[in-house]
Amino acid sequence: MLIDSHCHLDASEFDLDRDQVIAKIVASEVGGCVIPAVVASNWGSVAKLAHQMPGGAYTLGIHPLFVRNSHDTDLIDLEKTIDTAMHDPRFVGVGEIGLDYFEPDHDRDRQWLFFQAQLKLAKAFDLPVIMHVRRSQDMILKGLRQFKPRSAIAHAFNGSDQQAAMFIEQNCCLGFGGAMTFMRALQIRRLARELGLEHLVLETDAPDISPEWLHPARNDSSHLPAIANCLAQLRGDDVVHIANQTSANCRRVLPRLGLLL
Ligand SMILES: [Zn+2]
Repeated sequence: MLIDSHCHLDASEFDLDRDQVIAKIVASEVGGCVIPAVVASNWGSVAKLAHQMPGGAYTLGIHPLFVRNSHDTDLIDLEKTIDTAMHDPRFVGVGEIGLDYFEPDHDRDRQWLFFQAQLKLAKAFDLPVIMHVRRSQDMILKGLRQFKPRSAIAHAFNGSDQQAAMFIEQNCCLGFGGAMTFMRALQIRRLARELGLEHLVLETDAPDISPEWLHPARNDSSHLPAIANCLAQLRGDDVVHIANQTSANCRRVLPRLGLLL
């Protein structure tokens, strides 16, 4: 069984045919999907969606590119919402949180404030975090070292060897998906080939980061088996072994998911 550790199935791109997409995922080898929230207004929809599909799970948080339009009080609401969600077996962590230093016009100070506050919440509830890391590896690592959440996923990992080692040292798994299917993605493909398999999780980031054969069309979790095949080929490994190990990694790094699946 495969687990998609990162899919935004609540995104508006799926509004017209979400039920058919879910049916396609359920019919595939993908037995689990983690749906991270990005902003307070979608906390309810990710929870509802996770309950609508077998193997559905969700996380709650505020994405760095949404902090500008979030209120400071959303952090207080997040604490209350997490407190309630702790009773929901499909709730598995805090996310999607992080720092995005790629977009120049996004307020870095405010991103850092929200990232810190959410790491603190994760620590208080003993929950793992799912992180968006874009041109911000070193600051993300600083936050992890300071607040020490129990474990984390660095989604769509795109850092150096040294940064990968430092994330792993902080109990992180690194997310690999569509990006590694592109021949020109030399660094990501090399990391996917050389890092210890026990540190990798698979993801689609649907509807984004379409694999090469799909690009630029919409991505969804039913493409994860083909993405797993790509990883197997890169590593010269058996795809069943890849599926079992990356799913085990997902359960380890997201312990509540381990109780669910
Ligand atoms: Zn995401």
